[in-house]
Amino acid sequence: MNLFALLDQAAARHGDRGAVFSGEQQLHTWSALRERALRLAATLDGPGQRIAIASENRPEIVELMFATWAAECTVVPINYKLHPREMLQIIEDSGAARVFASPKIGKELVDITGIPVETVDSQGYSARLTAAPADVPTVTDPATLAWLFYTSGTTGRSKGAMLSHRNLMAMTVAHLADFDSPDHNCSLVHGAPMSHGSGLYIPPYVMRAARQVIPASGAFDPDEFLDLCEHHPGCSAFLAPTMVQRLVATGRPKPRNLKTVVYGGGPMYVHSLKKAMEAFGPIFVQLYGQGEAPMTITGLRRADHVCGDDWADDAILGSVGYARSGVDVAVLREDGTPAAIGEIGEIVCRGDVVMSGYWNNPDATAQTLQDGWLRTGDMGSFDERGFLTLRDRSKDVVISGGSNIYPREVEEALLEHPGVEEAGVVGAPDEEWGEIVVAFIVGSATPEELDAHLLDRIARFKRPKRYEYIDELPKNSYGKVLKRALRERLS
Ligand code: AMP
Repeated sequence: MNLFALLDQAAARHGDRGAVFSGEQQLHTWSALRERALRLAATLDGPGQRIAIASENRPEIVELMFATWAAECTVVPINYKLHPREMLQIIEDSGAARVFASPKIGKELVDITGIPVETVDSQGYSARLTAAPADVPTVTDPATLAWLFYTSGTTGRSKGAMLSHRNLMAMTVAHLADFDSPDHNCSLVHGAPMSHGSGLYIPPYVMRAARQVIPASGAFDPDEFLDLCEHHPGCSAFLAPTMVQRLVATGRPKPRNLKTVVYGGGPMYVHSLKKAMEAFGPIFVQLYGQGEAPMTITGLRRADHVCGDDWADDAILGSVGYARSGVDVAVLREDGTPAAIGEIGEIVCRGDVVMSGYWNNPDATAQTLQDGWLRTGDMGSFDERGFLTLRDRSKDVVISGGSNIYPREVEEALLEHPGVEEAGVVGAPDEEWGEIVVAFIVGSATPEELDAHLLDRIARFKRPKRYEYIDELPKNSYGKVLKRALRERLS
């Protein structure tokens, strides 16, 4: 099994139709894309090599992914927002044979690494596209590594999750079974980085010959994104929750052709989700996943977001849904026994989507893959209906006066106040209480107003004892709020 087959089949069925678009402009048909990928594949290093791709969202990423797979090599995607030193760490850790880079990133990398860096606008790259095409791979072992996925490193040094063709095929099938059913009259508009979630969604949409639309800016610009969803047919996109909020903030109505927005990768607060559904209608799908089980642990389907003429209840909207097709999900106590309904424990999962381990890191692999389960490090609980609610990671729980307080719950309540744009809650050491709850607020609501607001909503002991006002919450390059950075501000 080789993911290249998805492109091969799309080209056979829809060879003359547009496959890759830069903004509104068609660049390649499916036949041309297939040919470009096979020509590139013929020039790549032998099977088993790692090929790093470091670029803003660009059309070449699509052909490079399929070329790498055709050559039985492994894609090492690198987020373009990383610092060059962080990129270098990934390039070196993966032992990449070469790096394909956008002109901008190529310039930054070429002086700091001894590994060949080739920009996609170079003569060398054009020359590869004139090589005789490689043969279509027919006997690839499904366990062959397809994607070496470096974790975002919010919990320490970045590690390479090893994802095989089988893993990504399981992800593809689950996406088509649970979330979306594109066809050749549809489009995937790349809003989020193609080095991460948006790139992982390329296989299911290529399988159905849906257009790959890469915004010309290479970044996420809400107006550009919405314009593209007016222009291209049947649009779907994967967006981080902060991107959804930026779309809503434009005040624009739902574009004619925007059909599906999959959000996830970080918490979407109920209040923000309702605002998004009010603005764009019930087009939202939630995923909960992690690099180790890409895009696929649990999810909330479009229909789960509504109940009759109303939105679904807050317990459902605030959950991460239920197990995805082909994935077993459980919540375990510290002693490894299953938690009862409502009891919080560590979320674990298993299935064909789960990685085989971390690259060159047997210790981390042994800690993470145990008894056939992937230990996600996320804490959560199932309710009696089978919906999983994520609590904070164990290290984020605030223990004040012996009571566990989950920051997410306090943040949800704070965000319901109209004078709060963003809220980040952490614990600070305190002699009397052990820890106290501190809320970082972006917005104009005063502590008195917030106190009164919270008294109506959550238990008294969960209220922040201190409010800190800041201009913006610190976030990593994937838009995830850095709790560690918030805590550091307190020390
Ligand atoms: P990464 O491997 O960088 O994609 O990060 C995965 C982590 O993001 C998960 O382990 C969760 O902690 C968090 N995450 C992913 N999806 C969601 C979601 N739908 N809601 C809340 N947190 C999420």
